[in-house]
Amino acid sequence: MTFPDLPSGVLLASFLGLLIGSFLNVVIFRLPKMLEQQWARDYQEWAGTDVAPAAPFNLIVPRSQCPSCAAPVRWHQNIPVLSYLVLRGRCGQCRSPISGQYPLVELSTAALFALCVARWGVTPVAGAWCVFAAALLVLAVIDWETTLLPDAIVLPLLWLGLIAADSHWTQANLPDALWGAIGGYLSLWSVYWAFKWATGKEGMGYGDFKLFACLGAWFGWQLLIPLILLSSIVGTVVGLALKLGGGLREGGYMPFGPFLAGAGFVCLAWSPSALRAAIGL
Ligand SMILES: [Zn+2]
Repeated sequence: MTFPDLPSGVLLASFLGLLIGSFLNVVIFRLPKMLEQQWARDYQEWAGTDVAPAAPFNLIVPRSQCPSCAAPVRWHQNIPVLSYLVLRGRCGQCRSPISGQYPLVELSTAALFALCVARWGVTPVAGAWCVFAAALLVLAVIDWETTLLPDAIVLPLLWLGLIAADSHWTQANLPDALWGAIGGYLSLWSVYWAFKWATGKEGMGYGDFKLFACLGAWFGWQLLIPLILLSSIVGTVVGLALKLGGGLREGGYMPFGPFLAGAGFVCLAWSPSALRAAIGL
């Protein structure tokens, strides 16, 4: 028997997923703020106003702190999921509640990594799909919260999809992946302009075209139609549920990125090759 065998591989992947998930929380929280600061600096530079030097703010500094009382988060309060349970979802200092999103992102990452290793074993293929799943999770949460889909994640994910196809880490060969990316971008771009021309409104953003191009690159053009159908179904169900529950935000706007990502997760869980076999392409 080779080490790690499949059960210990899945266990290791879940453990790694918890740790990576903890880092993904930092990205989800800080990347939109970093972008906003960058845009403010760009604007000030363009307007020629004096720019006060800001304290460094990136994925490493400053250290994590409680948003309510600014107490630094100590290492033993930063253990994925476990610390949240021990502290009962409250700050160790001021007892103000900590968002349940933190353990949820950690557990989701662990589950996704376990799924990839259970499906593809301890292989580079599983590694590639773990990277895909982690990036997709970050994009879904950031888009849901801020309606941003940062290029800093979307564009590398697109390139990586093409590289993964060329390296045979995904089920799509390079032409399938390339046409998937092109078709994904152009299809939503056309829908956007048709909708805008017909109604004068903007139904989605350029980030959505790029994200769909990513899915096309990772799954191949054959899965573009199943992906868009899945995301529309999930989007409609969630939209209706929010409308009935009164949870829809002002203006009724709902970002589309989380549903594209959701469709990506469904295809990943279902098995990309089984799906392609099922639709006969
Ligand atoms: Zn606190």
